Amino acid sequence: MRTIQDYLKSGAIDIAPLLSLVLEKSSAELISNHDYLLSSDEKSQLEDLILKRQKGMPFAYLSGNRGFYHLDFKVTPDTLIPRPETELLIDIALDLFIDKNQDYRLLDLGTGSGIIAATLADKNPHWQVTATDFSQAALDIAQQNATTEINFQQGSWFEAVANQDFDLIISNPPYIAQGDVYLDDLAYEPISALIAGEDGLDDIRIIISQAPDYLKRNGFLLLEHGHDQQARIVELLQEKFNNIQTFKDYNNIDRAILARKK
Ligand code: GLN
Repeated sequence: MRTIQDYLKSGAIDIAPLLSLVLEKSSAELISNHDYLLSSDEKSQLEDLILKRQKGMPFAYLSGNRGFYHLDFKVTPDTLIPRPETELLIDIALDLFIDKNQDYRLLDLGTGSGIIAATLADKNPHWQVTATDFSQAALDIAQQNATTEINFQQGSWFEAVANQDFDLIISNPPYIAQGDVYLDDLAYEPISALIAGEDGLDDIRIIISQAPDYLKRNGFLLLEHGHDQQARIVELLQEKFNNIQTFKDYNNIDRAILARKK
């Protein structure tokens, strides 16, 4: 196997995007150059990637980036790979504050690669955006992904933002239950970004119980959650929040919840 066409015909998983990555050619260029003979360097680079992909490493960790909303984000195994369903949180947040010129204070808890904070800050340069993560390695990546000034702070949940208050707190926290079989498919991603105790709600419980102390009066809390957690989260919110709104993702799965501090 030596030409682009030989590789394209091989049936290896994600072979076209892997060829694009190694040869720096678009998929159209791959087709129009299908007779191109790969150099031995290109071949060994490609075959290394084919092997890693075959073993299950996600394509985003091989390419080192993933698109989310209107931006492209650097990702590494220190960060979760952005999921398209998380774009729902962006749509909800953008709809929430109509007055584009007011400088709302926003907090993104557990920012990971920074997708929520960076996307919203890029769309609304007036907003004052703070983003925290327990992992310094993730924050280093998030910092590189920011297109505007974002206040990054290291710490677990609210640890990093003592004595501050916000108009909107957003989080896509870990919400998968320990032992969930689905975790087998996510073996390459940081476990601390995925698992939250026996029912997957450990971190959501912490966020809901502490958020009122960090929200302005009538401030909003917006959470992403798992497919079967909506009713339990509504129950947790009821004590200190009202105007609870639930949202489904584009697969029609319960995925997000918005509530207003009483
Ligand atoms: N939504 C991710 C998934 O189902 C999990 C991320 C998370 O726990 N926040 O793969």
